[in-house]
Amino acid sequence: MLDLSQTLSEVEWIPRAKILPLRRLGIETVDDLLTHFPKRHEDRTEFPHFPREESDQQICLCGEVVKTQLRRFGGWKKIFEATLQEANANALSQPLVCRWFNLHYVQKMIATGQRLVIFGKPRLRGQRLCMEHPEFEVIENDDEISIHFRRITPIYPATEGLSQRVLRGLIYRALENLDGSSIETLLPRDVDLGERARALREIHFPELLANLESAREHLVYSEFFAMQMLIASRRFSAAARSGQAHCGSGALLERFLRALPFDLTNAQMRVIDELRRDLATTRPMNRLLQGDVGSGKTVVAIAAMLLVLEAGFQAALMAPTQILAEQHYAVLCRWLEPLGIKISLRTADRQEESFLPLLSGDEIPDILVGTHALLYDSVSFDNLGLVVIDEQHKFGVSQRARLTAREPAPDVLVMTATPIPRTLTMTVYGDLDVSVIDEMPSDRGKIITAVRDGSKLGEVLSFMRERLEAGRQAYIVYPLIDESEKLDVKAAAAEFETWRERLRPFRCELLHGRIPGIEKQSVMERFRRGETSALISTTVIEVGVDVPNATIMLVENAERFGLAQLHQLRGRIGRGEHKSYCILLSAETSPETVAKLAALEKTSNGFEIAEADWDLRGPGDLLGTAQSGLPVLKLGNLKTDASLMRDARAAAVSIFESDPKLEAAENQRFQQLIVEQEGRTFSHVS
Ligand code: ADP
Ligand code: MG
Repeated sequence: MLDLSQTLSEVEWIPRAKILPLRRLGIETVDDLLTHFPKRHEDRTEFPHFPREESDQQICLCGEVVKTQLRRFGGWKKIFEATLQEANANALSQPLVCRWFNLHYVQKMIATGQRLVIFGKPRLRGQRLCMEHPEFEVIENDDEISIHFRRITPIYPATEGLSQRVLRGLIYRALENLDGSSIETLLPRDVDLGERARALREIHFPELLANLESAREHLVYSEFFAMQMLIASRRFSAAARSGQAHCGSGALLERFLRALPFDLTNAQMRVIDELRRDLATTRPMNRLLQGDVGSGKTVVAIAAMLLVLEAGFQAALMAPTQILAEQHYAVLCRWLEPLGIKISLRTADRQEESFLPLLSGDEIPDILVGTHALLYDSVSFDNLGLVVIDEQHKFGVSQRARLTAREPAPDVLVMTATPIPRTLTMTVYGDLDVSVIDEMPSDRGKIITAVRDGSKLGEVLSFMRERLEAGRQAYIVYPLIDESEKLDVKAAAAEFETWRERLRPFRCELLHGRIPGIEKQSVMERFRRGETSALISTTVIEVGVDVPNATIMLVENAERFGLAQLHQLRGRIGRGEHKSYCILLSAETSPETVAKLAALEKTSNGFEIAEADWDLRGPGDLLGTAQSGLPVLKLGNLKTDASLMRDARAAAVSIFESDPKLEAAENQRFQQLIVEQEGRTFSHVS
């Protein structure tokens, strides 16, 4: 009898030569093998007659190979054709031709007289009905019919060196050898979705297609529940740490707000209230602040820091880039030094002078601003009450943990300008309380977005010059997507020269990741002061940069950026009273690109963009990355199965609410589940 935790090499009937290809599919244990789920099923109990017309529907057929032929075209290219005849052919039946272009291995696998099951779209080619590059399987002998044929047959994601048949055979045998009673059904007590062993059998080899849905529901729910138990355990163990109340009377905050040159929006005030309540309790705060670019998250964070300072504690603000840390530092100095608050900057490239005497314990800052460098500073805070992490999606879970793991636990506020669809929040941010700023300051000028191809460059340029003439400033973004990509300095310089020519006599400067920190800072400073009219830049300006007079953004090769990234970039403009313009240059006309860029023309609401992005791309890169700290889903679909996820979350939360340490007899079985889930995340890698 098999045991789920056994590794494949411990199972003697698994051919040694197949272990490596199985591993390539991520299959290491019996459990992995049984949760390698089919991508679809074919009903091979009964096949339809061969079609007489073409269709857009993929169909599954069975027939005998009556002829094969290799044809050449265009010199060295080859087409391999196999003509199939229906098994019970009648007078009306027509043969079907399967064709493969330049696929050497296919012709070695198919021979006259064989029986094939094929899956694809029948298309008319001249007079003949053809299937091009159908999926196919050679039916070898009738002994095995109970596995591969005359049944509802699973089709798996396969890999080189591991055919459908072999994979299917292995999974079939594993199910046969499984002691069903040894498989624990790990569901909450009030959920009756049957047993796991039965669900596993049914999802691979269903008796009836109608049974698939309930088997899938069992397995998806189990998968979601396990994930939500992990998330809930994180949430509850963070809340169970010993913390302190960090909330002052608010007098300092009042003084700050009175001095601000604008009124807070209702949404900002509501969120400050939510934060104030969290700060006042001894339960450690773990809150996410979601708000679109430009919605004014920084002021809200400052408000929280002031409450904490007033209660006699320090605050830290961590940002993902040096530019952003320096900008925060400048804003904080401007607004808070008049209130007598001491602020220090800590980045990898530069330390404020005031930081050095601090090492000897002279002067302890009230607020420490910095990049990752903060993580390695053990000296400066002895009294940390609040950690604010800006643009938290740029940090890994473990980095966040590192800064907040001290005793007693500080309150933690993480901020993100990358909204995600609401149905994803409960998973991706399920371990946090969530506050949302869903309102823009009223003084904002509109942003108009337009997609243009290169042929319109002349018009675009004269429009830009007109705006520069009027005293506005511009960002020109070129697509060096990954800053770690080796920057071709020459290419950047050439790009820069071109733009300088085009915009003469306006002053341009170049900004990219390879420019040394100090210089970057002064480039930004000149732009901020309005001495430079245009900044030719890579995406280093993507995050958080705030220059209200910059009202034009031109993005070159816009198709090379993702939707969320373009939205972030666009958030650099529309920050002042003037109307802003975002021009997306792209010569690409593929439907995906057109749809992506059209979404930006249509809306500037980050949540709507996030939904559109999800529709176009799927949530693939949100889960299962170091950043998310969550395991990859094998079966469930975050979008189409959202209601199952909601149920699973409610069940997990209610278990922890009544039994935070899972000590009750009926809950102890979940402890191991959580350990396993933790093991399946990437968080330990980062
Ligand atoms: P983000 O949420 O993208 O981090 P910021 O906090 O950088 O946005 O705010 C963007 C700009 O809006 C800043 O210049 C900030 O001073 C300003 N701002 C913030 N709140 C308001 C408000 N209620 N009214 C007007 N301007 C505001
Ligand atoms: Mg910001």
